[in-house]
Amino acid sequence: MAGTSSGDAVLPVPPIVEELGERFQAAGHELHLVGGSVRDLILGRSLTDLDLCTDAHPPETTRILQGWADRRYLVGARYGTVGAIKDGVRIEITTYRQEVYAEEHRNPAVTFGRDVETDLSRRDFTINAMAIRVPGGALVDPYGGVRDLAARRLDTPLDPEVAFADDPLRMLRAARFVSQLEVRPAPRVVEAIRRMHGRLAIVSAERIRDELDRLLLGARPSAGLRLLVETELAAEFLPELPALALEQDPVHRHKDVLLHTFAVVERCEPDLVLRLAALLHDIGKPATRRYTPEGVTFHHHEVVGARMARERLQALRYPNQVIDDVTRLIELHLRFHGYGEGWTDSAVRRYVRDAGPLLDRLNQLTRADVTTRSERRARRFEALQDELEERIARLAEQENLEELRPPIDGRQVMARLGIGPGPLVGEALAHLMELRMERGPMSEEEAYAELDAWAKERELDAR
Ligand code: ATP
Ligand code: MG
Repeated sequence: MAGTSSGDAVLPVPPIVEELGERFQAAGHELHLVGGSVRDLILGRSLTDLDLCTDAHPPETTRILQGWADRRYLVGARYGTVGAIKDGVRIEITTYRQEVYAEEHRNPAVTFGRDVETDLSRRDFTINAMAIRVPGGALVDPYGGVRDLAARRLDTPLDPEVAFADDPLRMLRAARFVSQLEVRPAPRVVEAIRRMHGRLAIVSAERIRDELDRLLLGARPSAGLRLLVETELAAEFLPELPALALEQDPVHRHKDVLLHTFAVVERCEPDLVLRLAALLHDIGKPATRRYTPEGVTFHHHEVVGARMARERLQALRYPNQVIDDVTRLIELHLRFHGYGEGWTDSAVRRYVRDAGPLLDRLNQLTRADVTTRSERRARRFEALQDELEERIARLAEQENLEELRPPIDGRQVMARLGIGPGPLVGEALAHLMELRMERGPMSEEEAYAELDAWAKERELDAR
């Protein structure tokens, strides 16, 4: 196998790609591994999907795949992409492009190109604008992608103003790569975003959301988020974020909420719901800020923030489950701070019930939220959080905390009281749930006794 054209180490091109390259060659066509796949190969990152490009048009590509791929799927024949699965690996083969983007369209329009160099020139960044010819393994790197990768520099193949005008999403992708690959944007890239951020308005919410997700799940989300705020790109789709740069107030000296937010996001493990909650946990602060003689306060910012987060996440077209989970975490993110005053078992049970399946994430968010510089305060807080988590574990051992519900259900309540479905049943169950929270587990017998007492008090005709 040939080495790369740069003459140094042979890149470990996956054997199935070589094999596919031979099939294309036999059919009289070129095939290149391209884009993110080449970049990740050079970086030694594991390859997930394989991106390939060819001069063959989709019908021809489909024919060549016949009898080789385990399965073919439609990615978007309109964009010239054919998808296939081989040995469990996803492969996407795109015909060389020569894009003509029309700005009034939300998604780019595409025309096919003739050679790989033109295709590469239309790609977003130099580090994504490299190709490896297969079979053989010759590296095609007309824009210095290897050099930029080595220097950890993010730059566009051609003029960034043209690149961003062609597809404004690339501005957001820049921030995504800053987070994901720990690269630094070239000054001309930063300046172009600063001048052109308003163009993001033509990009669909779904495309924006997908890039924001990758940014948040990257290794350095704080760096990506900082670029978004510094260039004012954030204002285009997440104005709540720059609004956190509350002016420093010399009298009360509250810490900068924006920098705090960056830190909290990065301290949370890369889980989308958790990092979204971290990103948005304090967005209710600007609207709730009050100056009092005792200092600045942000009363109920968690409630206001949860509401704002719901609106923003809906606008960005997040799935309902994600929205519900994120807003719940925001609502609950201050609850723990009452713990220092001493919680009863019943308070711990309520905490567990309210967090539900989000408990682990809530604990993590609460811990990440403590970014105080005072070591003493940080340690005290950590000790309290440890204590709460131990208490939850102990209670969970004694009683089934995952099933925090009364020992009898609605049907049993109706049978006992001789009533049909209706609001009374819910009220009775709520009453029993309250008791369960207060006292811990109870038997069926106890539950029936409590139900009878409740019914009697309400002058219901219990049997
Ligand atoms: P990931 O590891 O997240 O898949 P990636 O770089 O492969 O990162 P993709 O979105 O899968 O990103 O895109 C594949 C390749 O297509 C990129 O590496 C780049 O060469 C090109 N590309 C993707 N989106 C754009 C765009 N908006 N403008 C120009 N080129 C793009
Ligand atoms: Mg990819």
